[in-house]
Amino acid sequence: MNSVREKRFKKLKRKQIWPSILAFVLFITLCVAMIAVFLQLFALYIMGTKLVQQHGETQHVKAVLEGFLSNGDTITEAVDHMRKYKVTDRDVYVIDRSRHVVARTGDSEPDFGMILDFKLDQEFGLGESFMAVADNSNQILEKEGTYTIFAMSVDEVIQKTLTRDEDRREPGPWLSDTIIAQKYWLRTSLGGGQYEAYVKCVIEVQRQDIFYICIFGIIALLLLMIPIIVLFINTVRSVVTQRRMTQLIYLDPVTGGRNWFFFRNNAERILTRLRNSRKAFALVNLQLERYQNYCACYGVKAGEELLEAMDGFMKARVGKNELFARHEGADFGLLLVCEGENEQEYQENCRKRIRSLVAELTGLKPDQKIHFHAGINMIPPYIAEDGKWYHARKGVDINQLYTYANAAGMTADCLQDQTISFFDQEMLGRQVWERWVEDNMEEALNNEEFQVYMQPKYSPLNGKLVGAEALVRWISPTEGFIAPDRFIPIFEDTGFITQLDDYMISHVSKLQAEWMIQGKKMIPISINVSRAHFAQEGLAEHICELVDAYGPRHDLIELEVTESAFFDDKDILIETVKQLKAYGFHVSMDDFGAGYSSLNSLKDIPLDVLKLDGEFFRGEDDDGRGEIVVKEAIQLARNLDMRVVAEGIEKKEQVDFLAGQGCDMIQGFYFAKPMPIAEFEEKVEKDA
Ligand code: C2E
Ligand code: CA
Ligand code: CA
Repeated sequence: MNSVREKRFKKLKRKQIWPSILAFVLFITLCVAMIAVFLQLFALYIMGTKLVQQHGETQHVKAVLEGFLSNGDTITEAVDHMRKYKVTDRDVYVIDRSRHVVARTGDSEPDFGMILDFKLDQEFGLGESFMAVADNSNQILEKEGTYTIFAMSVDEVIQKTLTRDEDRREPGPWLSDTIIAQKYWLRTSLGGGQYEAYVKCVIEVQRQDIFYICIFGIIALLLLMIPIIVLFINTVRSVVTQRRMTQLIYLDPVTGGRNWFFFRNNAERILTRLRNSRKAFALVNLQLERYQNYCACYGVKAGEELLEAMDGFMKARVGKNELFARHEGADFGLLLVCEGENEQEYQENCRKRIRSLVAELTGLKPDQKIHFHAGINMIPPYIAEDGKWYHARKGVDINQLYTYANAAGMTADCLQDQTISFFDQEMLGRQVWERWVEDNMEEALNNEEFQVYMQPKYSPLNGKLVGAEALVRWISPTEGFIAPDRFIPIFEDTGFITQLDDYMISHVSKLQAEWMIQGKKMIPISINVSRAHFAQEGLAEHICELVDAYGPRHDLIELEVTESAFFDDKDILIETVKQLKAYGFHVSMDDFGAGYSSLNSLKDIPLDVLKLDGEFFRGEDDDGRGEIVVKEAIQLARNLDMRVVAEGIEKKEQVDFLAGQGCDMIQGFYFAKPMPIAEFEEKVEKDA
């Protein structure tokens, strides 16, 4: 999974839920605040209109009293007249500049200790003189407090506020019942500021006022509910969509279970979270072998069903902090927890678990044979390096670790009962080396870094140098001398071996041609041709062209074919050998006896030389059975009119024995090791 996709996924995850939820919460808060503010403003408005009304009354009283005063009445007379003519039923309370009471009606009076600041004069245009003072009989608010009043029943409040008889009104419609009546004295000035008159007024809150406020609140709430519901549905939907999308992103299209992206993300999270745990983890690559073959035989659908069944099966087998998912094709990744105290115990427990898992999986299809192999990369709790201990699990790259498990899996071989293989550093070294070889081989060929070495072949009869085998050596400017065993198998795997074979054929042909021109002693040289080459058609013509480019005699060139090539396409092989012989080249069977010897191929293919593998001469031969086999092999070759070369000869006794059996040539360290050309030229001059 590339990092761009990962970043996008994370962005998507972040983007989807939080803004919606945040918007929703913000909106709700805003709505609640708005309703509260509106309700307060509305209540204030109702109170304001009531005050304005009372203020009007006060102004009326003021006008009447000013009228009496201008007629020459004293303030006491003016108040008396006002009461007598029943101008108003309001009580008045008048004080002079020195704050002495000059006239009053009623039995309560302003409580100057409680000046009420309504802060409404500006809003309602009541002028600067607007000031209210609490009534001294008016104790309910102080006694009970506003909140208690709201908690009281309406009747209780009425009982407490409307104490006097004159305060009781005729019972009207239920809605206009007064539930709170607060008495205040509103101030106004009289006689050009000579007196301060306080007019008693009652601010009443009726049921309908509360009713209107409630209605207003409900309507506002209802109106706001619509966007709230819409937003809520939207938020829920986006959360659900987001969850579904995450599930889709984590869904494996074949198994219907989790996919690799899920595995990778979660495995890295688990390992980081449990980095200090004493338990080890195992990253397992479990592969169903020959899946393509299964699909070809039973159909792709059946193949996918099998993978689905495997997925379902493994789901039930993994525990807490463990994971599994299909990686690709028919390979599954597993992250397993391994109990134990040391590396060996971790491995053993893991092996047991995988073994039983594989055994159960194999039983998934009782009438079909299915095989599995597993590669395991252990992730131990701590790794020591340079004497230091450090956590191995923080910031791990699962794909990288899985590649190692996979590499281990590739070395597992279910046919040889080695279904489980553990990854180790040596394996990593091999992988690194293979990469280096693949990266550098082409350039090395172009730069002529491959050198031809010669290993002479001697006649056991007269001890003369009668032939040689060309063997390649890679002299790398960075790696130095590289033996063929380290790169030939890689070349064979990659197919590059054919280019190397061509290179060797050309170089040997060139040498032969030069030696001929220089008038040197001519001896036949054998060149290895890999089995991969023999699969190609027209190989004989191709070799002929390579040799003829330099023009040496064809009988000086011998081509060694390994015994294993005889198991490939036999017809092509026979055809190629025949053609090579027709061109005048010699052909030998290399490594005879190293693998499964094919005596049958000796019958079919007209070979010139049989090379007995060095293995015949290794180890002890106390009972002489080895000698009998060699003796009979030589006899067989001679009867088929072939010459015999014995390879890997290191001891004098072996030479003597082979001489006695009529072996034609001996190649081995006893006579000479492979050597550079210059050295070989000297050797030919001396020994040939
Ligand atoms: P081979 O063709 O069987 O080559 C003989 C190998 O046996 C050589 O190893 C040689 O050094 C070694 N040998 C010879 N005498 C003795 C002995 O007395 N004792 C022991 N222990 N070993 C002996 P080398 O050169 O390392 O080559 C290894 C293999 O690499 C060759 O096996 C051949 O299969 C392959 N190879 C080498 N050069 C080429 C080449 O140019 N082309 C191809 N296709 N393969 C090559
Ligand atoms: Ca050889
Ligand atoms: Ca050989």
